[in-house]
Amino acid sequence: MSKADKTERTFIMVKVDGVQRGLVGEIIKRFEQKGYKLVALKFLKPSLDHVKQHYKDLSSKGFYDGLCKFMSSGPVAAMVWEGMNAVAAGRIMLGETDPVRYLRKNLLQAPFVGTIVSTLDGEDSVSRLILPTHSSCSNICHGSDSVESAQKEISLWFKEEELVSWVQTSSQWIYE
Ligand code: UDP
Ligand code: MG
Repeated sequence: MSKADKTERTFIMVKVDGVQRGLVGEIIKRFEQKGYKLVALKFLKPSLDHVKQHYKDLSSKGFYDGLCKFMSSGPVAAMVWEGMNAVAAGRIMLGETDPVRYLRKNLLQAPFVGTIVSTLDGEDSVSRLILPTHSSCSNICHGSDSVESAQKEISLWFKEEELVSWVQTSSQWIYE
């Protein structure tokens, strides 16, 4: 296993709805329990411009303005996690982008069950999912979709000096 594998980083952000629902700790706990190393963490109310920059690849989409307004409407918890396959593992842990659409199509099939979205918004409260007021913006947590996006997102949300260099003593039990 190469060193680079262990130092892959992903940008994870508990969104406005996740913060309001008191899920920051739960999401941090899941990454910790998987053995990922926390490299940076901040709690902030991002500006509209900042969020627009974060989602700029989606600027042609009809939901872009609403999404950016939503994401700048309250505080978020932004973090960087490091470890083997951090990006892909983060995506798997988050689950589907739109759990409502996914649930309707796939009715609780294996890849969805046990993900953050399913557990926090799905399998333990399926009725909430089918409320007509459910917005597809409100899916609790963001995670980078590739190593390249992770690098861009990390540098948008954190200054270099905010990325903390430390030795995670448990890593020998995780990787060796
Ligand atoms: N989103 C939305 N409507 C859509 C698709 C996406 O409001 O039809 C929001 C949703 O909050 C999603 C975010 O836009 O998480 C970014 O969309 P993307 O396709 O990048 O999904 P993600 O990478 O978050 O799974
Ligand atoms: Mg995305």
